[in-house]
Amino acid sequence: MQSANASAPPNAERSAPGSLNRSPWLEQLPQRAPMPALQGAQETDVTVVGAGIAGVATAFFLLRETAHRVVLLEANRVAHGASGFNAGQLVTYFERPICRLAEDFGIAKAVAGQRDVDAAWGLLDLILGESEFVEPTPRFVGHMGMFTLNHLTVHLQNNLMRKRGGLVREQIRISREAPFVADIPAEFAGLYELVPQERVQVLLETDDPRYLAVLSNRKGCMNSALICEHLIHYLAASYGPRFQCYEHSPVVRVELAAGKARALTPEGQLQSHRLVLCTNGFVGVELANADGPEIALPVMVEGTIGYMAGMLTEGSCKPGANSYLMSPRIGEGQAYYYTTRRPFAREGKLHTLTCIGGPDSPQPREQEYDRQAPYPPAALNKLNAHIAPVMGWPDGHTPRYDYLWHGLMGYTPNQVRMIGPNPRNATLLYNLGCNGVGLLPAIHGAWRVSQAIQGARIEPSMFDPA
Ligand SMILES: Cc1cc2nc3c(=O)[nH]c(=O)nc-3n(C[C@H](O)[C@H](O)[C@H](O)COP(=O)(O)OP(=O)(O)OC[C@H]3O[C@@H](n4cnc5c(N)ncnc54)[C@H](O)[C@@H]3O)c2cc1C
Repeated sequence: MQSANASAPPNAERSAPGSLNRSPWLEQLPQRAPMPALQGAQETDVTVVGAGIAGVATAFFLLRETAHRVVLLEANRVAHGASGFNAGQLVTYFERPICRLAEDFGIAKAVAGQRDVDAAWGLLDLILGESEFVEPTPRFVGHMGMFTLNHLTVHLQNNLMRKRGGLVREQIRISREAPFVADIPAEFAGLYELVPQERVQVLLETDDPRYLAVLSNRKGCMNSALICEHLIHYLAASYGPRFQCYEHSPVVRVELAAGKARALTPEGQLQSHRLVLCTNGFVGVELANADGPEIALPVMVEGTIGYMAGMLTEGSCKPGANSYLMSPRIGEGQAYYYTTRRPFAREGKLHTLTCIGGPDSPQPREQEYDRQAPYPPAALNKLNAHIAPVMGWPDGHTPRYDYLWHGLMGYTPNQVRMIGPNPRNATLLYNLGCNGVGLLPAIHGAWRVSQAIQGARIEPSMFDPA
């Protein structure tokens, strides 16, 4: 494993514990003046609230697939929510294994949900290709390290579901030296391969002997903030008067009545036929439904702050993404830590950016998340302590990071994104609930919402709002 500060770029500004929230993704955005805020009374066909990847992709598909006019209302600046403060890994797993989701939704819906998110790779390529996004969004095989029979059993069950459901299977390799090899249930035969322990460590890029098995599948990485910014300009240029985006326009109240939605912001109001909330989960919006029963907005979404650290080294690299399970049992305690390595342009030069993530903390409901809050030293100590054995850092080594940042994730109670029309008033739709892994699910959600608004027949799904 590469040493933390090997050939750091000269004159690089660095982040230290207690320093400001500094995301590498926002640093790559071109500087521009804020877009105007919504003023006065206006009308459109579809209002999309929130300009993160979910809202921007929803606008993309609505404009592409329908003849509707679309207005995007953003409380702050485009992509300054979770889409500007994430790890940027492209992955298709859910925060809960699909074999557990099958217990809630049934096998057919869980398999269909996984198929939908797997298919979001194609939707992402369509967005990037059609809008001529030229920055790198590398794709590769990524690896996850496991070390207990519980880890194996859960992931072999997932693989069995994938096989029976006709989905692409993940590759599972187990060290011949793992003490639990003889205990692996016979039903999983043919779903894994036994390999030398050394192979496990090579794939995981670690000398840490704890890891005894590897799950490998397709991964990638991207700067989702840069893509949002690019798409806003692409949509404005391609669809002219059919598309408008307003920044600094927080929606404080939504009024629903007879196939109409009215979004109220401090300086304006916007009437439309449909309104889609793409707000990560933290709606903070009052809702009045004159059309029927009272609708509770999904305020049950729980807030979690995720902490990230990133370091630059000189020169380009082979991109990769690994994760390392931490708790011996899936679903208990600290789930995993993860690393991503990618080429990263800064000040006109190409570097390698290695990002580490894992620690998180709950955001109390009564307290508003402060995006400007400094990075807590305790989060950094935790991150360093957990990742040190994986990275092979000597005792007492304290890496110097170029970026330290945190971001807010919205967890739905079942940890599944909420996508589609509200069952009590279909004027209101959702594409929200970031749940830790949200980029490809948000893109699937964007497409699904555009289908629902077109009136296309869509099968009931585990993403349906209750
Ligand atoms: C630390 C961290 C690491 C992550 N790592 C990964 C990863 O590696 N891979 C992955 O797939 N996912 C990851 N995620 C999750 C991923 O970033 C999110 O799921 C995704 O960006 C969510 O996009 P979004 O558009 O739903 O939400 P956001 O990007 O948060 O956008 C919501 C927008 O809505 C706006 N808004 C909110 N309320 C209102 C209102 N009332 N009026 C107007 N606008 C409003 C906000 O200002 C915001 O801009 C991570 C998240 C974090 C925080």
